[in-house]
Amino acid sequence: MAANDQECRVPLKLLIDEKNKRVIAAEANKDFVDILFSFLTFPIGTIIRLTNNQPMPKISTCMNNLYKSVENLSVNHLCTENCKSILLNPRNPCIEDCLKLKVKIDDSVSNKYFKCSNDNCSNMSWLVNVKCSCEGKTSKEIFSDVRNPTNDYFGVFIKGGIEFIISDDLRVLPGSPISLVQLFSDLGYNHMNQIKEMFVEVGKEEILRLLTCSLISKSPLTEVFMNKQAIVENMNIMSIEPKISQVFADLHTVDSSKINLKLVLSTSRHKILYAEAKDSFVDFLFSFLTFPIGSVIKALNGISGLGCIDNLYRSVADLESQWFSFSSYQNRLLNPGVAPKHKCQNELLPILVELPDHKLIDPRDVSGGSSEFGRFTMSPSLFIVSNNLEVKPMCSTSSFGILKDQNVTFFDIEEKVISIGKAEAALTRSSSALTEALSFFVNTQKEERD
Ligand SMILES: [Zn+2]
Repeated sequence: MAANDQECRVPLKLLIDEKNKRVIAAEANKDFVDILFSFLTFPIGTIIRLTNNQPMPKISTCMNNLYKSVENLSVNHLCTENCKSILLNPRNPCIEDCLKLKVKIDDSVSNKYFKCSNDNCSNMSWLVNVKCSCEGKTSKEIFSDVRNPTNDYFGVFIKGGIEFIISDDLRVLPGSPISLVQLFSDLGYNHMNQIKEMFVEVGKEEILRLLTCSLISKSPLTEVFMNKQAIVENMNIMSIEPKISQVFADLHTVDSSKINLKLVLSTSRHKILYAEAKDSFVDFLFSFLTFPIGSVIKALNGISGLGCIDNLYRSVADLESQWFSFSSYQNRLLNPGVAPKHKCQNELLPILVELPDHKLIDPRDVSGGSSEFGRFTMSPSLFIVSNNLEVKPMCSTSSFGILKDQNVTFFDIEEKVISIGKAEAALTRSSSALTEALSFFVNTQKEERD
């Protein structure tokens, strides 16, 4: 590993239309494509954390609101202080692989762990001072082995036997003159003299901008390398006003075995004003931050509608399995799942969970258990969830204040209790509502940009 990530750069050849200041495509080797593919393993919480300081439009209002809600939440409402760390700084599920990337933008990707202070105990955590079941605490810094490829032919996720062509909207194809001609003519270019070559070296700053642009734009390469502003009119965003009301409005059934949610509605406006939620529902909402973007796209059947990240996802699915370093890597990128000790007990969506690592202590469990604890917020507690997923503890805000904010007449307020079951319970209405909830969660860019 290099001592300074800042200095690591990977080469990229851009094919540009100088006249229109546009990147038509790029040619790159495995090192750059590995970095692009690694975007799919980034948890939503990580993406928000990394891109928040960028002078760019926010990826989604809801994602940011949820993230901010966790930031602002007093530790008293959480099982342990570490719950905040898991949600705001979730671990990458492919951490060992991402460590080997030539340019690393996620500083939380590390092979550093803390071993239990008890010499006879081999439990550990990625966090310091986590209580162990043996009464010890994680304190001794250790580093897990990183097995670097013995041969430069092997990349992280893919092999090095080919060059790749990457379109401006992040379609990644094995390089061949014919595929390039196809791409050029699809875009209306009919002669090579319209196209110039440009060589660049890509470092941390460009990769970070590329990550943001991959989630908000249809032409990330042009935006990053030609310094163009996001082409907003190009964006494929649902034109509907995304509100929690649209997601849950049709649900009626109440079943005590499921998670119940109390919706407060305005009868005249047919609109949900806010939701009153128990800790189990809030845990479920917060768990969105731990989902890697690849698993989100998987849960949405390949269509997140975010920027052009779906093209990247499809490229992984379409690439012949022989080009992956290990055949399992293709599926791993398409559904990375949550990292160990990140699973939510009340998970309602079919999100894959990483195989349990018995030596890892669940930092959420005050008793120091090494089994899956699966909770974030203290139970029982009640929360107010706004239409845009701002979550506040009920006790932190006065009921009168909430009513005042809504500005409705008293006879106009109605209450409705709905319950939400597990999404894998086939194609019930509630499962489609949850998928919609997820889609609504990621797809709130429009408001931010209007
Ligand atoms: Zn121990």
